[in-house]
Amino acid sequence: MYEEAIPRPDVVLRKYRTVVFVHGCFWHGHKNCKASKLPDTRRDFGEQKITGNIARDESYIQMLNEMGWKVLIIWECALKYRNSMDREAAIATLANSIRTGSQILAEIPKGDYLIDSIR
Ligand SMILES: [Zn+2]
Repeated sequence: MYEEAIPRPDVVLRKYRTVVFVHGCFWHGHKNCKASKLPDTRRDFGEQKITGNIARDESYIQMLNEMGWKVLIIWECALKYRNSMDREAAIATLANSIRTGSQILAEIPKGDYLIDSIR
């Protein structure tokens, strides 16, 4: 039977048993993010594809968690569409979460999660 391989994380930190994925906001369906808004054309196709991606991401995260890995998601918008202070804050939060193993959701600005920490 064909089994889909786990996608390669962008960063693997064996010492901390942590993997980091940098997710594009659009294709991975970042909630409440401007960069994930669908264009009006081909909306059905886009929605279907993104819903599928979200479901697949969730199952990969669960699989990695079951294997004892902590999974951190850093959203593209945290690095790309922010000023340098926000970017630095996002990276510092990510580093802190890796070091301490804490379950931080970085919220910059309010209501917009740039980093998800999922165990
Ligand atoms: Zn985003």
